[in-house]
Amino acid sequence: MYLSDGHPKGIKLVLEERGLWKKGLKRICSECKIHLPTKNNCCAVRILFFQLDFAAQRPLIQEIIEDQGHKIIFYPKFHCELNFIEQFWNAAKQFTRNNCDYTFKGLEKMVPDATNTNLKIC
Ligand SMILES: [Zn+2]
Repeated sequence: MYLSDGHPKGIKLVLEERGLWKKGLKRICSECKIHLPTKNNCCAVRILFFQLDFAAQRPLIQEIIEDQGHKIIFYPKFHCELNFIEQFWNAAKQFTRNNCDYTFKGLEKMVPDATNTNLKIC
């Protein structure tokens, strides 16, 4: 994906190397800028999108995390309600409300208890 000088090859050269570049091909077509098009070869971006090695390429952050033996879960953007930590915090806050005497000292004791308790998350 990189030239010998370290610069990225660019989409045109990648497609040329694969014999997929066509004269007059746009980098990205107007249809692809707006929504997912119906064609698979309307522009360079779309052609590259369907190359198997590109489709199988994991994002760098995913490679780094998984190569360290961890799992990674991507949540849909802008939908924090689907993030597990939000459900955990909700259960922890509920546990705290139900078991706190509503003093600062009570909170100092109850918040760590809430995060260390096996909370029922639904
Ligand atoms: Zn396109």
